[in-house]
Amino acid sequence: MAFPIKVCVVCSEEFELKPDKPGFANRCPSCSEPESADSLGEGPMDADERKAAAEANEARRKAIRDLLYRKDS
Ligand SMILES: [Zn+2]
Repeated sequence: MAFPIKVCVVCSEEFELKPDKPGFANRCPSCSEPESADSLGEGPMDADERKAAAEANEARRKAIRDLLYRKDS
């Protein structure tokens, strides 16, 4: 069974667009994996990295909030 051949918009590789392919229809399977589009040859973020990123985000938000509070009072 033949599937339509598409060109990935991220890496320009040709790939078969299978009906059950997860992710975007214009991205190849490896570019459709979450969190991996901009990675530098590394695999997807694992749980620890995700947690660290979330904590960094939270810390930044808290810092901004503290800054705003200080300005107000
Ligand atoms: Zn790709």
